[in-house]
Amino acid sequence: MALQFDNSYLRDLPWAALRLAPDAAPAPRLLAFNDDLAARLGADPDDLRETAAAWLSGAALPPGADPAALAYAGHQFGGFSPSLGDGRAHLLGEVIAPDGARFDLQLKGSGRTPFSRGGDGKAAVGPMLREYLISEAMAALGAPTTRSLAVVATGEDILRDGRRLPGAVVARIAASHIRVGSFQFFAARGEAERVRALADHAIARHDPDLSGTEGRYLAFFDRVVARQARLIAEWMGLGFIHGVMNTDNMAVSGETIDYGPCAFMEGYAPGTVFSSIDRQGRYAWQNQPLILGWNLARLAEAIYPLFDANPETGVAIANDRLDRIAGQYQAEWLAVMRAKLGLSGQDAGDQALVDDLLAAMPGADWTLTFHRLAEAATGDLSRLRPLFDDFTAMDAWLPRWQARGPDATRMRRANPAVIPRNHRVEEALDAATAGDLAQFTALLAAVRAPFTPDEAYMLPAPAGFGRYVTFCGT
Ligand code: AMP
Ligand code: MG
Repeated sequence: MALQFDNSYLRDLPWAALRLAPDAAPAPRLLAFNDDLAARLGADPDDLRETAAAWLSGAALPPGADPAALAYAGHQFGGFSPSLGDGRAHLLGEVIAPDGARFDLQLKGSGRTPFSRGGDGKAAVGPMLREYLISEAMAALGAPTTRSLAVVATGEDILRDGRRLPGAVVARIAASHIRVGSFQFFAARGEAERVRALADHAIARHDPDLSGTEGRYLAFFDRVVARQARLIAEWMGLGFIHGVMNTDNMAVSGETIDYGPCAFMEGYAPGTVFSSIDRQGRYAWQNQPLILGWNLARLAEAIYPLFDANPETGVAIANDRLDRIAGQYQAEWLAVMRAKLGLSGQDAGDQALVDDLLAAMPGADWTLTFHRLAEAATGDLSRLRPLFDDFTAMDAWLPRWQARGPDATRMRRANPAVIPRNHRVEEALDAATAGDLAQFTALLAAVRAPFTPDEAYMLPAPAGFGRYVTFCGT
């Protein structure tokens, strides 16, 4: 069965995108293909695999696709750009799965568009396989995320920092590509009716129970807040650092989107930053909850006129909502940490229990500490202890936690053994760029089963790996 396309974004909001075809890749070759996701979309994986190199690279268009580059704006590192848009991506359309679920299918790295500014519209094999790998890891870890259907090498070299690198396109599936910055684009132009139409479209798509109801725009804002607060709490619990939480990279669906310089923290250090361009540490691990609120304030600025006929009332309502976000996030974070610590029910001391654990943890591997705390729950400290340089604070903390009755079984479901370790990701992508996919394939299999211990993929980077720095891959 072929993919079933619809194009509601272009139908409802024809002024929100520019219709144009992706570049035709000269010699497309499939590097990675997601059978499970193909099946989820209603395709026969073997059939789709046959056509994937052409359809998912821009070399040919699947029947029903109507490619377009979407307009959006965004605050990048705090500064506003009124016109960003898809500068190297083409939305092929929406795939309707057999159960009726609707997914955007987008190509990234598929050529220049009117939004490209100085860029070449292309992407290299390494960063596109990176998006595939990390998004698949996030899905397996249970975090809301866009997913990758395929990566296709284009057969064309591109230039990055004076180096020739093999080019590639990632085919990405998303609940939608509606970003905070999508609303900002029209709000900044004073196009109030377009902001409203976009909001109605987003509601139909993500919160259909609100469609047509009175007060739907405020209710929609509340839903976005809830989804994004949950998402960031999940990230924090996983030690995931997105790296570019610009408003154009925050989806109203609440999915993780735009895997660029993201990476997982190893030794616990709340100020951890990996991205080479984040010199101030704006998007450091510990700042992500603050940026959540900052970005949602930008969404509120774009849509508050929809909250009430009287703009002053709209502002007051928005401010009231924004004042509550920190508390909403805190509740989500506590829920994530209760699960990680195997605690059921709620105890007034839980917040302090979490804070005191973090105070005892600097330097200890984030992922392994929680994984081995599940062993500590049954009294075995032998593998936890070596993770710490100084166990004194833990010796004081453990009895308090044990008195709360942690459930080791629950902890094993909440705390992964395997995450995409930075040194493993780098070696796999380097080999793939040089033409050898064996390490990538093995790493992908490991991160797709994150709760199954696999010692080879659990170790932190060796000391010689040094400080890890990531690049946007543009
Ligand atoms: P990102 O940081 O990847 O989310 O991208 C920010 C903006 O830069 C978006 O408008 C992208 O479409 C655009 N962009 C990134 N890389 C390229 C490229 N190679 N060519 C053209 N536009 C790009
Ligand atoms: Mg982006």
